[in-house]
Amino acid sequence: MGPTETGKTAYPAKQQTRTDRIHVECLGCGRVEEFASPLFAVVRDEIARTTGYSIQAVRLGATGHCRSCRIRQSANQH
Ligand SMILES: [Zn+2]
Repeated sequence: MGPTETGKTAYPAKQQTRTDRIHVECLGCGRVEEFASPLFAVVRDEIARTTGYSIQAVRLGATGHCRSCRIRQSANQH
């Protein structure tokens, strides 16, 4: 019983795979949601082809108003 590997518990499954996603941020309440789409793979391929880069991740941002803020806004506009 000599657990020598107690200190070096690696995280084997959690590799740093960066998933392509859009952060959608609400300008009203500041909530952030993540949006993923298979289109990112297409964009990434195109970027890689055009620039010659090895693209790790495609990150885009979007801002707007979330559903509850939109409801609140339209309620206030009466
Ligand atoms: Zn909001």
